[in-house]
This record gives sequence, structure tokens and C-alpha cells, in this order.
Amino acid sequence: MGEAKRRKQAGRQQPARDTALTDKPRSSQEFFDQLAPAQRPDFFQLFEATREITRDELMAVRSEAADGRSEGLESLARARHADLDDAVEAGFAASPDGEATRRAIACRKGCYFCCHVNVSASIPDAILVANTIRSGSAGRFAAAVRTTAAQIAGLDPAERYRQAIPCPLLEDGACGIHEARPTACRAYLATDAGKCEASLSSVKAGGQPTPVESLAYPQQLSAAINSGVLQGCAEAGLQSCAVELTGAVDLILRDATAVDRWLNGEHVFAPYRAGDG
Ligand code: SF4
Ligand code: SF4
Repeated sequence: MGEAKRRKQAGRQQPARDTALTDKPRSSQEFFDQLAPAQRPDFFQLFEATREITRDELMAVRSEAADGRSEGLESLARARHADLDDAVEAGFAASPDGEATRRAIACRKGCYFCCHVNVSASIPDAILVANTIRSGSAGRFAAAVRTTAAQIAGLDPAERYRQAIPCPLLEDGACGIHEARPTACRAYLATDAGKCEASLSSVKAGGQPTPVESLAYPQQLSAAINSGVLQGCAEAGLQSCAVELTGAVDLILRDATAVDRWLNGEHVFAPYRAGDG
């Protein structure tokens, strides 16, 4: 089955950031309840389609000459982003409440209270971000990535948030690699920016994170896709784990052999496993 057809199937059937610091989104169950059974996303099929295509694409990339591998890996990550975007849109289109839910999304350029947490990314997502920086169009972020990676090394996700350390890819309050941002960032959509701000303000003042209102539905789709990518990596014989974005991107930028070594089966991303201290 070709890439285009599988992508279409995955989209039709229908960590992540570290969401442990947020409350359980409230609007998702109602969102699902309004869908007729036939319109409800099939998370397992999305996972399966993603697993299969990730495995096949990675096997194909491994057989390519070294100088042709980047393009294949970027294409793999971008196609998963498109699958997510398609699936989210399909859900909005299918639900009677879809347009109202879409209008309730508060996320806007210049709103970045959420960009102070560890981002859990797939390894292909991290490679896409690193390549975007390396390609020159976003080369100005390399130094900030290095600085932040050193700053957060050894901090657990809760402590990083408590210290309110911003993502090094922010620029003038906006994501500087927006088009290439990881799946988890794409899926994180909130309905009340004031609550995102209040939570960050609370931790900056030495308090606890406070509840935010994010939509569970896109995050559940993102989880299905990222799980499929993880399993596809494993079936291709590669290290398979979610990684902390900044540290993993920094490694790829510092070590020109890192991606090839990963493709050769080395566990080069072990120090950056998401969730580890
Ligand atoms: S509303 Fe919250 S999740 Fe959305 S962009 Fe603003 S801070 Fe981020
Ligand atoms: S990659 Fe972009 S969207 Fe994601 S945390 Fe960083 S600045 Fe925010």
C-alpha cells in the first residue's frame, strides 16, 4: 500500500507533551458522546496504520545511502503530522459540536505559557526539528538549544516546569519552528489561556501548577500516532522511546553521527528518554 493511500486511511479512521501537570480535560467525553458510533475515531486502526508505515519507511531509509536518509526521515515525521491534522479536522467535522469546540480553542500566536514544559517527542519528530535548525532557516536556535539542554539536564519534568524554563525554540513569544513543531505540541490545544497563564504564574511564584483546560481529543489522537511510531521503530530494530525534545535535538546538532548510529540500532538517545530525570 502506498504512502498516500495509507495516510488517507489513517486520517479518515479516526506525548506528547508531558501532560502530567494539567488536569483531565473536561470536554472530551462529551465530544465523543455526540459522535455516531460509525464516526468515532478508531484509535487502534490509527495506531496500526502508523506502526506499519513507520516500520516500512524506516526499513527503506536504512537501505538508502547516508546522504539520502534525512529526506526520508523528515518525510516520515511530516506525514504523521499531516495524519494528526487530518484526524483532528475529521473529528471536528463529524461532531455536531465540532465548530463550537474549534471556536473555543484559545491558542494563538504570541500565547506561549504552555511552552515551559518538557516536550515528549518521537525520535523522527526530534530529527525533523534538528534538521530544520541545521538547514539554516532556523539556524539561529542552535545556541539556545545548547544552553537550555545544559540547563534542564538532570531536572525532572516537574522541576523544569517549576523553574519556568522556556522552550529554546520560542522567538518573540511564538514557536520559531512552527511548521515543524512536534506532534505533542500540535495536539496541545487549550480553551482558556488565562488558566495556562495562571498555572505558570503559580509555579513562578513558588506554588503548585493549577488546572488548565486542554482538549483531550487531539491528545488522544496524538497518543495513538506516537504509540504507532514507537512500535514501528521497535519493529524496524531501532531504539524506540519518546525523547525529551531539547536534549535530543541538542544531541543531533552536536553529533553528526547520532542519527546514523540510531539507524544502525545504537541506543544513542538513552540519556534523553522522556520522563527520566
Ligand atoms: S492557550 Fe494555553 S495551550 Fe494554547 S497557546 Fe496559549 S498557553 Fe499554549
Ligand atoms: S517546539 Fe514550539 S510549540 Fe513546542 S514547546 Fe517549543 S516553542 Fe512551544
